[in-house]
Amino acid sequence: MKTPASSAQRFVRADVQAMASYHVPDATGLIKLDAMENPYGLPEQVRHELSQALSALALNRYPQPAYAPLKEALKAAFDIPAASQVIVGNGSDELISMLIIATAPGVVISAWPSFVMYDMSARFAGSRFVGVPLKAQDFSLDVEAMLAAIAEHQPAVVFLAYPNNPTGNCFDEAAMLSILQAAPGLVVIDEAYQPFAQSTWMNRLAEFPNLVVMRTVSKLGLAGVRLGYMAGAAPWIEQFEKVRPPYNVNVLSEAAVRLVLKHKAALDAQAEQLRHDREALQKALLALPGVNPFASRANFILARVPDSARIFAAMRERGVLIKDVSKMHPMLANCLRITIGSPSENQAMLAALSASL
Ligand code: PMP
Repeated sequence: MKTPASSAQRFVRADVQAMASYHVPDATGLIKLDAMENPYGLPEQVRHELSQALSALALNRYPQPAYAPLKEALKAAFDIPAASQVIVGNGSDELISMLIIATAPGVVISAWPSFVMYDMSARFAGSRFVGVPLKAQDFSLDVEAMLAAIAEHQPAVVFLAYPNNPTGNCFDEAAMLSILQAAPGLVVIDEAYQPFAQSTWMNRLAEFPNLVVMRTVSKLGLAGVRLGYMAGAAPWIEQFEKVRPPYNVNVLSEAAVRLVLKHKAALDAQAEQLRHDREALQKALLALPGVNPFASRANFILARVPDSARIFAAMRERGVLIKDVSKMHPMLANCLRITIGSPSENQAMLAALSASL
């Protein structure tokens, strides 16, 4: 007898059947500090302009697939070198997937622990993922181990998240340079948290034939829009364009980003506020007994606590959702990742945390 379950079991890849889907916890009624979202909405005036611009769109038409005006707006707003080409994705998640598909079945290397989708996307595409452990004491790059893995595996793609998620640090420039020089294939510097690090490789694209810089508007305040972009030399980007689904960025997102970028100063001011509040939060966390926050260049702080699972659950009971990353890697044992929220959210988080210790 043919049932949905038996057919799915017969035809879906065994490795996919063995996987769990990306878990997004329900945040209803909770203070949401689990996903590095910007806590601030758009200014009233921008929301008004947005409603007018979006209602005027022809939703019966597909997007213009080349996205030329959007790419020009991104280039101007984010100081992308004129000589570089840009590709857009439905979030940088999709860009990660596209560049791995284009190089599959190659080896994908990342310093590890890092963003989980590097591993997941490699597995989906039939590529091999190799995570090279960071140094446990400060989450810095283990350059010797990275260079040895590059020599051994000849990776098609090396990911370096800058700053890294979930550790929050930026890797050392000299260490990254030696990886860029040693890597035979592509090196993707993932600058998802660039608004909070204010340190970039974007202006150095011309120096390295194998460098692409990937970013997203998610952390800047437009996570719901789903727009990622990646800049690099034409011979790389042209290949990735071939595996990009033709209309991957929808007309609403395209128009929203173009309009909001005209008001980018408002988002920059929010990022500045978050950077400022991050330093205060760092000090407040350090003052709590048993809480050891790591320095952060992103809009979140990783902190080691006495018993992460218990404290995470107790904080949720008190109405605050953060992320328990302790099971992601042994190096992250008893670590919680806390997104920087608004000042009142941060206060509520600190109160919930200290009551849960
Ligand atoms: N890169 C890194 C390092 C991230 O932490 C994230 C989101 N958690 C992403 C990429 C994906 O961002 P998005 O798909 O929202 O653009």
